Formats: sequence, C-alpha cells, structure tokens
Amino acid sequence: MLFVLEQNWLVPVTENDPPANAQPLSAFTNHTIQWPQPDRNFSFNTELQQILTMRRLTTDEINHSISTLYDHARNGYVRFEAGITFSASGRPHCVRCDNTDPTRFASFSCARCGQECTYCRRCITMGRVSACTPLWTWHGPETQPDSANPHTLAWEGTLSPFQQQASDKLVARLHEATAGEFLLWAVCGAGKTEMLFPAIERALALGKRVLIATPRTDVVLELAPRLNEAFPEAEVIALYGGSEDRFKQGQLVVSTTHQLLRYKDAFSFVIIDEVDAFPYSADAMLHFAVQEARTPDAETVYLTATPSPDMKTRARTGRLPYVTVPRRYHGFDLPVPSFRWCGNWRTSLQRAQIPTTVSTWLRPYVDQDVPVFLFLPSIVLLEQILPTFQQQYPSVDGVHAEDAERKEKVQAFRDGTTKVLLTTTILERGVTVPGSQVAVVGADAPVFTEAALVQIAGRAGRKASDPNADVIYFHYGITREMAAAKRHIEAMNESKM
Ligand SMILES: [Zn+2]
Ligand SMILES: [Zn+2]
Repeated sequence: MLFVLEQNWLVPVTENDPPANAQPLSAFTNHTIQWPQPDRNFSFNTELQQILTMRRLTTDEINHSISTLYDHARNGYVRFEAGITFSASGRPHCVRCDNTDPTRFASFSCARCGQECTYCRRCITMGRVSACTPLWTWHGPETQPDSANPHTLAWEGTLSPFQQQASDKLVARLHEATAGEFLLWAVCGAGKTEMLFPAIERALALGKRVLIATPRTDVVLELAPRLNEAFPEAEVIALYGGSEDRFKQGQLVVSTTHQLLRYKDAFSFVIIDEVDAFPYSADAMLHFAVQEARTPDAETVYLTATPSPDMKTRARTGRLPYVTVPRRYHGFDLPVPSFRWCGNWRTSLQRAQIPTTVSTWLRPYVDQDVPVFLFLPSIVLLEQILPTFQQQYPSVDGVHAEDAERKEKVQAFRDGTTKVLLTTTILERGVTVPGSQVAVVGADAPVFTEAALVQIAGRAGRKASDPNADVIYFHYGITREMAAAKRHIEAMNESKM
C-alpha cells in the first residue's frame, strides 16, 4: 500500500494509479502523526473493534476495507505504523518481530508498491511484513471481558500437598501489588495443569486476560479441551498455525509462542509452559513475542521441569521467586536413572548391531509385552539400527522430528500396537505412555544434556499403579550431564513435605 502526505496526515492512495509522490509507509518513518483522541460521536465498527483489540495486524489479516480502517484512524480509533522501518544508514528493522539482522531480510518486486520491496524473512511464517505493509492497532474502547460471567472452576479433583502449596503461592501473587516473574519448577508428571486452575480462576475473576503460551502446537491441542472442561463458562481460545479461533476474543487464551506476534499489550496473567523448550529457548523472536503480548504490569509464570542454568541461579540467589513441586501427583519417587556401560555404541549402531547389554536388558520386557521407549542420539543412527531391531523383535517402530507419520506412529505406541519405539530427543517431552520403560542408548552423546536426560527419565513411571519403571542410560563413559541429571532427580526425590 502507498501513502501521500497531506496536511500532516498520511493518506492511503489506490494502488492502481498512484500519484507520483506516493510512497510506502516506511518512507515516512521520520514523520510524526498527531493521532487524535477517539471521537465520541463517531460510530465505530464493533466487528473491527473485536478483531483489533489487543492486536497488531497487517491489512491482509483484517477483513475490512482500507477506507473503513482509515476512517477509524482519522477518528482516533485505529493507528497504523510501518511494518519495516529503516535506520539513517538504511538498516531495516521489522516492527512485528524486532528483527534487525540484515541477512534475514530480502526484497522482491512488489505489486502493491511497484517497488523493490524489503521484507522480513524471520517472521514470514506468520504472513509477509514488507516495507509497504502497515501494522494496525486499536486505540478506541476495548472489548471487555464478560464480567457477568462468574468463570467458576468446574474441576473437582484434589491437589496433592505440594501442588496445593504451589497453587496457593500463585494465587497469592495475583494479589500482590508488584507483579513480576515467578518460576514454577515442577517435576515431569507433577500435574501442572491442575495446579494452575485456582490461579486462572482468580485471575479471570479479577478481570485479567489470561494467556498460557507453549512452544508446541500439540500442547495447545491437548490443553484447550481440558481448560474448556475446567472453565465451561469462559471462552477458551486456542491459537496455533491454521487455528479457526484466530480472530476471536476470549479471556482465556492458549497459544503457541509464534501466534503471539499478532498481539500487543494484551495479557496481564501470563503462564509460559516449558520455558526451556526448543524453539522458545533459542529464539529471540519468541521472547520478543511474549514480551510484546503481555501488559507492562503482567504477572508472568515460568513453568518447567528443567529450568535453564541461568534461571536456576536467579532462583537460588533470590532474584527470581519460585516454588518447586518435587513430587509427582501420585506421590511416588521419580525413577532414578541407572548407568550401564555398553561399549562403543556408535560403532555398533553404525554396523547395524545392537549392543549386547542393550539386548539383554530389552528382551524380558519384549517377552512380557511391556512398552519401551528407546532414545538414540541422532536420526541417522536411528535409521541405521531400526531394521536390525525390526528383525529381532516384534512390533518395533522408529520416529523422529522430521517424520511425516510422526503423529500416527506415536499413536500406535500409545495404543500398544507398537511395543518398542525408537526415537530421538523429539519425544523427550509430551508423550507419555503408562507403564513404559525408558532407555537411552548413547547417553554420553552431546545431544543428551542434563535437561534432556531429566525430561527423558520423566517419560517413565507415570502411573500410580506402576511408579517403579526402569530408566537406564547406556553409555561408553559417564558424562557430567548424565551425573547432573541423576543428581537433579535424586534431589527432587529428597524433598519431603
Ligand atoms: Zn519480522
Ligand atoms: Zn511493497
């Protein structure tokens, strides 16, 4: 889209026949618009209000005409800004995702502005933001959470003493004057969703907008129905790539971190699930997205079984308030991993041979039809050894991150059709199969960090009826990470109530 400067206002012009002085919005970065206050006599479009409240969207994401949008801008209800700005030296900056890395911009011959148009490659999966893309925000009265709704918690389960303690702290923080950051350090299988319920209920009652952000779509899909059940009167919005809830408004939102790029100053109670998980931990863009989506006074809860070293240090030195939930919901200890030397596993796997110690461990479980998770350091090794496993044992399958049939294969393992599932670290989180045993072959490989090994151990013994699952790290030399993972689990087990 192109604009011209008229009486200190930027006015959009038709793309078909633009006047000679028309420019993309990014060309006017130095021009400050005096935005008017909302004109009370203007009857604004409530549907537009609904779409734009708390959001920052491109024109393509709004199903209203430019003239409607511009009308609202002139009357103080909507503002727009350039999606890409340029520094004095010409360096681009993406306003949506905060990208300033010149190698992550590109340009194309743009039909909309008729120019060679710079666009951001970093947030391209959310739709293109280019130099002629305006980003629109709402500045009129916002859609308000439905305060007539009591949002009563319908969940009637009970919390364990550790869960209760953590839950009480979360609720108490909602009433403290100074909001900030809080770490909820809960072991795998602690029942973290349930312990959030009372705080979510309170936050909704206080009129706060609540966000649960997670790096993974499958977590959104799993959480949304549980939240719907727990809060039948609240509108639960589930956001992920391709979600139909995209432009709905609700007081309780569960979203992938990517989708937060469409929000601005929206949520005052923010829970970030698996804060240490890929891709969130590595990606500055997603940190920025969370930062932008929360209000300046928001309370932010980080939820994880394996905090980053930095977070642990901040917690232990008192700079990050926290609470631990060191027990699983059923109260039993976490299975402590044992170490077993298996010789040079890399050479064995490359020769398509299963190390003898691994076979000896595996055989009785296979004979008794017990499900086994077997973790390997890489996709390549997995593919090299899978045929041998399939020759020697019935119902073995392999799955990895780039596997097109990932969902189906995991489901087959859940259903019990597949008994032994070979996998890479992709399944270290999320997937749990009751009664399964867990082995890592090549636990000394660099990919198996302390956090990864703790998460993997957490796949075992999730059932109250069978808490004593085997967790075994097969290795060719014990690493520091392996020892740290074992200490981490033992320390959690030593915490008593
Ligand atoms: Zn961007
Ligand atoms: Zn353009």
